[in-house]
Amino acid sequence: MNQTLRDRLVRDYPFMSSADLSECGEGWFQMLNELCETIQAYLVGRNIKDFQITQVDQTLGTLNVDFVPRNRKISKIIEPVSKRSASICETCGAEGSLSTRVNEFLSMRVLCPMHRSLYGYEEHKEVPPRREAKPQGFVSLYANAHIPTEEDFRRALEEAHDPREVDAILEEASRVAEARSRARVENHRQNN
Ligand SMILES: [Zn+2]
Repeated sequence: MNQTLRDRLVRDYPFMSSADLSECGEGWFQMLNELCETIQAYLVGRNIKDFQITQVDQTLGTLNVDFVPRNRKISKIIEPVSKRSASICETCGAEGSLSTRVNEFLSMRVLCPMHRSLYGYEEHKEVPPRREAKPQGFVSLYANAHIPTEEDFRRALEEAHDPREVDAILEEASRVAEARSRARVENHRQNN
């Protein structure tokens, strides 16, 4: 986020004075400003003085806010805003959706159609649901995709610094493992 916008947040919300915003796009400024306003009202109401936001960035595409000390109420305040960030372009604030770079694992960003094409991203598609989909062999299902290996997941977990990120990686890992075993069964069936 650029210096002017960062200065505005620091001016209006003392708990932002040491926040690292270098990994947060300008498109989320309005949303972040509203979030800070809500947090400020809560802090004033409870006369809490030691609260600090340390970092604002994105985790698997959506807004992530780190702060000290732990505070469950503030986590609850942040949660719906993080959800909302999944539909706001991080770069310009227009309507957007989760996007990913082709064949690049964990490259998720929330982008509008224009920024998607500008940065070489495409709209993120969930792996189609299992049962109703006609079974396909593993090879044809993933013919054009880089399928993350266990090694990829292990490395991603090592680098993860947030419980939500860890959860998402584990979820994705189990999805891939499930797809692999389905494909094995299907290939076996076709070959016998
Ligand atoms: Zn945009």
